[in-house]
Amino acid sequence: MIIQGTNHRGDVEDRADVVVVGTGAGGGTLAAYLADRGWDVVMLEKGGFFRAEDFSQREEEAMAAFNGRRGLDASDDNSVFLAYAEAVGGCTVHYWGDSFRAPPDRLERWRTEYGLEWMTPAELDPHWEAIERELGIHICEERLFNENNRLVRQGCEALGFRGGAVPTARVDCIGCGWTAFGCAYNRKSSQLITTIPRVSKSGGRIYSDARVERILIENGRAVGVEGSLLDRDTDQPHSRIRVRAPIVVLAGGAIGTAELLLRNGFDDGVVGQRFYVNPHYFVFADFGREIDNVTGIPCAYEVDEFREVRRTRSGEYAGGGYTMLCSHQPPGLTAALLPEVGAAHAERMRRYRRLGSLMSVIDEENPGRIYLDGGVRKVRFRVRGVDQHKAVDFLRNATRIFLAAGAREVWIPDVYGTVVRDPSEVETRITLRSVQPGAQVCAGSHFLGTAPLGADPSRSFAGPTGEAHRVKGLYVADGAAVPTSVSKDPSLTIMGVARWIAAGLHEREGRAGA
Ligand SMILES: Cc1cc2nc3c(=O)[nH]c(=O)nc-3n(C[C@H](O)[C@H](O)[C@H](O)COP(=O)(O)OP(=O)(O)OC[C@H]3O[C@@H](n4cnc5c(N)ncnc54)[C@H](O)[C@@H]3O)c2cc1C
Repeated sequence: MIIQGTNHRGDVEDRADVVVVGTGAGGGTLAAYLADRGWDVVMLEKGGFFRAEDFSQREEEAMAAFNGRRGLDASDDNSVFLAYAEAVGGCTVHYWGDSFRAPPDRLERWRTEYGLEWMTPAELDPHWEAIERELGIHICEERLFNENNRLVRQGCEALGFRGGAVPTARVDCIGCGWTAFGCAYNRKSSQLITTIPRVSKSGGRIYSDARVERILIENGRAVGVEGSLLDRDTDQPHSRIRVRAPIVVLAGGAIGTAELLLRNGFDDGVVGQRFYVNPHYFVFADFGREIDNVTGIPCAYEVDEFREVRRTRSGEYAGGGYTMLCSHQPPGLTAALLPEVGAAHAERMRRYRRLGSLMSVIDEENPGRIYLDGGVRKVRFRVRGVDQHKAVDFLRNATRIFLAAGAREVWIPDVYGTVVRDPSEVETRITLRSVQPGAQVCAGSHFLGTAPLGADPSRSFAGPTGEAHRVKGLYVADGAAVPTSVSKDPSLTIMGVARWIAAGLHEREGRAGA
């Protein structure tokens, strides 16, 4: 049952076998797994409950309704725009549905650096297979490739760059092009239409507009949570909610989980200290003719030629360390990303229908952090050091791809208005100045690592099972738990980790409250 906190009057008391904070990729997956096996589940979500009919396919309405801080959140120096959703279904409401398993080399890193022995393909594959079945994840069919995707593929083939169709989480998609603002046709397999209904059907209660503020701990054991029911229009609290449960799972996303823990005194030098976002830079290409980068899905084709870092013999950075995603840029966001103002900006927007675009997923080596400043949650993130070199390498290779695909000119959307028309200009025109903080819009949307799992309590918040080192019965099962960047879109990794944690919980505890 969905209980919309914005409409509910009066305080709420509830009890369950498990209470899950957050309804996104991690929370939804874990909750449905347990609900399917007889657990009495309560989920609390600070965002609102929206259905297909609420998704108007208008950017400004969607951003205001369910983007964090109404779509205006950024790092504390405004150099990185933070894109995330707060709604039943979490970020999967507006995610693109690209669904990759974590690469084996990343699992190996988590085993060796974080002592997560269980992170092997053999252990995770059955969970990923189950999720892929449940969400209808499949390799994107050709009919969903719009022209931008086809041109990028053509450019890659001409240059010999490795790329391929993405595994995508959607069933019978009609390719309307508005996936990033909530699927109005219930074809994208967000948690909103997959796991949440399963929890609801098995008797679980999902409270929307319910912000968790306190983790209740008695004798070193988590026993529940409490918080406020919010008025959706104003975000102001109007009632209290308290849920008691012997198992508390934090799945508020890497920002939300860290914020909640910091507000509850888990300020122990680990929580929030490593915050990964996979910085996204953008490149636009003017093909001199109308191309379709509006319909289809934003990313049907991914370039993964550059995922691994290349180094010189002496160990210096020589390229790579990112993947590229074709990106559909809707008009409002495109206008915000493109440089210049007034007539010059209008001239660029006049060419909107001629533009293709690519976006980076930088596998950063220098994470940021989440902190509280006078009671306000803030994010420090600067793309720096080797990560700036990765960004430049991305801008250059994306430019080469578009030129090889026949673009007339390629725009680096920096404050200098950098334009490249010939491959011979790439190295000289695109330099570090384009990626200095504030030189162009950089965004982050893959939030990870703020309450990581690990064997060593001085470097991790929770042990390998997902249970907090310091508090029994308190678990983390979302992007916060994943120790570092995944080097690919992370949602399927997060879901796999959450399902693995749920399976362990079920095996050890049975129905905890029974
Ligand atoms: C525009 C966009 C497109 C994306 N596309 C892709 C993609 O194609 N493929 C991919 O793999 N990844 C994609 N991602 C990233 C992906 O969606 C996230 O990595 C993933 O959903 C994170 O899962 P999570 O469980 O950590 O948190 P979320 O899915 O963010 O869920 C956390 C939920 O917890 C709630 N919450 C937080 N704090 C509290 C609290 N105190 N009380 C109650 N509730 C709370 C939040 O409101 C939120 O709804 C995209 C992200 C964005 C922004």
